[in-house]
Amino acid sequence: MSIALFTLGGTISMAGRTPDGVARLTGEDLTAAVPGLAALPVPLEIQDFEAVPSSNLTLAKMLDVVDAASKAISNGATGIVLTQGTDTLEETAFLVDQVWPHSQPFVLTGAMRNPTLAGPDGPANLLAAARVAGSPAARDLGALVVFNDQVHAARWVRKTHSTSTATFASPNAGPIGQLVEGQVRILTRPARQDGVPGRAEPADLDAAQVALYTVTLDDDGVLLKGLADTHQGLVVAAYGVGHVPATLAPVLGELAERIPVVLTSRTGGGSVLRNTYSSVGSESDLLGRGLIDGGFLDPYKARVLLRLLLATGEGQDEIIGAFAQHH
Ligand code: GLU
Repeated sequence: MSIALFTLGGTISMAGRTPDGVARLTGEDLTAAVPGLAALPVPLEIQDFEAVPSSNLTLAKMLDVVDAASKAISNGATGIVLTQGTDTLEETAFLVDQVWPHSQPFVLTGAMRNPTLAGPDGPANLLAAARVAGSPAARDLGALVVFNDQVHAARWVRKTHSTSTATFASPNAGPIGQLVEGQVRILTRPARQDGVPGRAEPADLDAAQVALYTVTLDDDGVLLKGLADTHQGLVVAAYGVGHVPATLAPVLGELAERIPVVLTSRTGGGSVLRNTYSSVGSESDLLGRGLIDGGFLDPYKARVLLRLLLATGEGQDEIIGAFAQHH
């Protein structure tokens, strides 16, 4: 029995500047810096996967990590910990959650303060993540983000602050658990959702480009022109409950006749609506024009989901069904 630790780089691994860039800690270095880790009942088995800023991660790379983690589970690991940069962690965690078939927990963590600073948060986050990954209470919860002694479900977690060590939050639901005196306390157990069936190969992902368009005041819509010629899907981060300027409504309707277009809110919390407003460009108008209701999913996660669904060959009805799980 063991917990498999995969490292991907990020702030948690930054050991200072070098003439060529950044000195990176290995998994061995990271774990050596954590008081209490050696006393855990199961050992960590380390695989240094990559050492990159998380801005360089791709969906294909993350699927490779998931494959390696699945192998570790087949070899007897009771849980997975993945350390990476925090910038894209809300997206990678959601991706993992969509494709992780095991009951063993897949826990993602990182740090906001690198190891050269006073009070780095990486060691505490790594220890907490390992405790959750080794906890029977965390089974059947899919991918989890453990940060700042909180446990967040991948489907809800957001990075909400550029520098705070309390950056990860779940605005729609709150954390599903906490670490108290080092004990894992799971407070609520969201039922697992249907994941994305099938395996998206890199070529499938390349052929499934999804754009994200954030609507802004006095929006000219120029970037939407011709989008269906270059992209296979579109996520719209609309105002409030799912509104766009009236001038954009027919443009989005025409796009929705050619590619899946998912309606989400740019606000950072709450769901888009279905039936409350009816002016041109309102949520009911856009849904009537064929846009797909993204529910509570934020634009970034919606983009990950739509890309995975397109890459695995899912059709319009399956896409609508997958997003309906987030209503
Ligand atoms: N915050 C960055 C990230 O998300 C860290 C950048 C770096 O590791 O160089 O990865």
